[in-house]
Amino acid sequence: MTLLQTLKNSQVMDNEIQELMVPHERVAHVQLKNPLDHALLVLIKSGYTAIPVLDTDYKVCGQIGKAQILDSILGIERMEMERLHDYKVEDVMTTKVPRLNKDETFGKALMLSINHPFVCIEDDDKAFIGLMTRRSILALIHRYFSKS
Ligand code: AMP
Repeated sequence: MTLLQTLKNSQVMDNEIQELMVPHERVAHVQLKNPLDHALLVLIKSGYTAIPVLDTDYKVCGQIGKAQILDSILGIERMEMERLHDYKVEDVMTTKVPRLNKDETFGKALMLSINHPFVCIEDDDKAFIGLMTRRSILALIHRYFSKS
């Protein structure tokens, strides 16, 4: 039996993603209107490459990373550091962000994690409740195969 068949036939694919989620209280995030210098500070202090962008209602609007911020201040001859305070997160972020409802199955999260390091988890009102990361997905698969 292939690895995929084993996963499909097992309970691991039906685990609800909430069980594996990093809860929102532990997620570093920024808001749409934050200046870029604040976003860069959060990214550097947290050590993450990219983090979610939320609005004031705690809804997911996109994601922002260090590379995007640095790219946005790149002038022709120098890094234009003053732009860090002039630009806001909403000017630079990408709105392409993978998201799933909290009641989706682990299988869907697994598929999304192939191309995305994290997936935003939302409740039924589309409010952000946490992240599913590649680490948590791999940890679950590792646990499953260590047992069997
Ligand atoms: P990991 O699988 O733990 O390496 O996480 C994958 C990606 O998810 C990281 O590179 C970050 O972009 C994001 N991430 C993980 N944990 C957090 C967190 N607590 N707060 C914000 N972003 C996170």
